[in-house]
Amino acid sequence: MKLTVLGTSGGFPAAGGATSGYLLELNNRHILIDCGSGVLSNLFRLVKPDQLDAIILTHLHHDHISDMQVLKYAISLSRLHGIDIPAIPVLAPGTPENIADSLQSDGSLIIGHISAQSEQQMFGANLRFFAMDHPVEAYGLSVEFEGRKFAYTADSVPCTNMQPLLQEADLALMDAGTLESLRRPKMMHMTAAECATLANACLVRRLLLTHLLPILDPAEILAEAQAIRPASELAQIMETYDV
Ligand SMILES: [Zn+2]
Ligand SMILES: [Zn+2]
Repeated sequence: MKLTVLGTSGGFPAAGGATSGYLLELNNRHILIDCGSGVLSNLFRLVKPDQLDAIILTHLHHDHISDMQVLKYAISLSRLHGIDIPAIPVLAPGTPENIADSLQSDGSLIIGHISAQSEQQMFGANLRFFAMDHPVEAYGLSVEFEGRKFAYTADSVPCTNMQPLLQEADLALMDAGTLESLRRPKMMHMTAAECATLANACLVRRLLLTHLLPILDPAEILAEAQAIRPASELAQIMETYDV
C-alpha cells in the first residue's frame, strides 16, 4: 500500500495547504480518504476523476468533506464534455442527516453508510471501521493488505477503540489537533502527547501527526510528540509513504 498525504490542516487550510485528505493506493486502485478544503487540487496532480475507485469519509465535518460538492461538478462537467466517469462509491456516516443528505447526487456518487465496528473487503484489502469519540458520528479506519496495516484515527479524543484500531499498525495517521498547554475539560482532538503515548502503547511502527490547526506552531506540536516518542513525524503534504 502507498499513502499520499493531500492535506494536513485541521479546521481550515494553512496558506497554500489543504484540510484532511489522503490517497491510498493498493492493487492499482485509488481510494480517497476524506475530501476537505483544497484536497481535489492536490488529488488531481496524481489521478483524474475517472481513476478514483472509492471514497471514504470518516465523518461529516466540513474540513473532511467540503470538496465533495465540487467533486460532483468535476464529474458532471467532465461527462458533459464527453469524458465517461462511472459513479464513484462513497462510504460515509449517515449522520448528521442534513449533511449526509447534501452528499446525494444525480448519479455521480453512490452513497453507502458506515456502521460501527464493521468490517468489509475492498479491492482485496480488509477494512475495519471503529467508532471514535468526536461531537459527530466519526470512524477510525484500519486497512490491512498483504500483511501490512494502515490506521487512521480521523478526528477523536483517546477512547477504548484506539487500541484495536492502532495495534501494531505499520503506519498510523493520527489527529494531533491540539497541545497539552491548551487542555480544556472537554476536548475534540488529541494532543500531540496523547498521539505519541497511544502510538507507543499500541506498538505502532511509524507515526504521522496530522490535522494540525494552522493557528498553532507545527514545531511545537512535533516537539511535544517527540518528547514522548522521538521518532514522531509530521505528515508532509504531497509526500507518499509506503505502508
Ligand atoms: Zn477535522
Ligand atoms: Zn471533526
